[in-house]
Amino acid sequence: MRRRSAPFVAGNWKMYKTLPEAAALAGAIREAAPGAAPAELVVLPPFTSLAEAARCLAGSAVGLGAQNLHWESQGAFTGEISAAMLVDAGCRYVAVGHSERRHIFGESDADAGRKVRAALKAGLHPILCVGETLEEREAGRTFEVINRQLMAGLEGIEDGLRARVILAYEPVWAIGTGRTASPGQAEEVHAYIRGRLAQKTGQDGADCAIILYGGSVKPANAYSLFKERDIDGFLVGGASLEAESFLGIAREAVRAYKEVL
Ligand code: PEP
Repeated sequence: MRRRSAPFVAGNWKMYKTLPEAAALAGAIREAAPGAAPAELVVLPPFTSLAEAARCLAGSAVGLGAQNLHWESQGAFTGEISAAMLVDAGCRYVAVGHSERRHIFGESDADAGRKVRAALKAGLHPILCVGETLEEREAGRTFEVINRQLMAGLEGIEDGLRARVILAYEPVWAIGTGRTASPGQAEEVHAYIRGRLAQKTGQDGADCAIILYGGSVKPANAYSLFKERDIDGFLVGGASLEAESFLGIAREAVRAYKEVL
């Protein structure tokens, strides 16, 4: 039986929050975070607010991450940000392969793999996002798509580093739509991902892997989702833009966690 770890809840602020707004949100999360213990909280502000958020969160248990990176360490890549720059700004985490990056900006599975490797090399924890579109789900291709994105994202990682990768299952049809996957739908894919990890890395590694769910998570649905055996926490978009709803999700996950321990 796999031992559940405390909920991991990451907030993806996407392209929201100016500098003063980001400082206010980071400060409010910092203040309220003890009320969601033992949940692990991480925020992913836009690049321009990273250093300011790091300053606001310094000395607290709230982690900081970015939403994207480039795989090269430096060079003539106008508009891009390297892993070392993120570390410099105070990040410990970085999202890779978010569906908005894949579907709006045309990032490939191979790009996600390069980014995961670059993040690991710099000492960051990549949060590798995978998820099928509605069309793919309706065509019965969910597992095929998840497997393809997962294997490409994890390609070429040394055994010792794989444990640093956090995974996020985010069905594209549930992101920003208000249409959450049911706990059963989410668990089915989480269990599949854990099974594939077990085949690739062994059962112990798979049991310890953190697999988040993302897609219209709110305080009202976090409890029932976290009750599922293979859901270790959440990647939250819209509801992470207010401290109260972000912390509300974390508190609901903790409530479920205490019951499943
Ligand atoms: C996300 O951006 O990763 C996300 C899950 O967004 P939302 O919670 O708004 O669906």
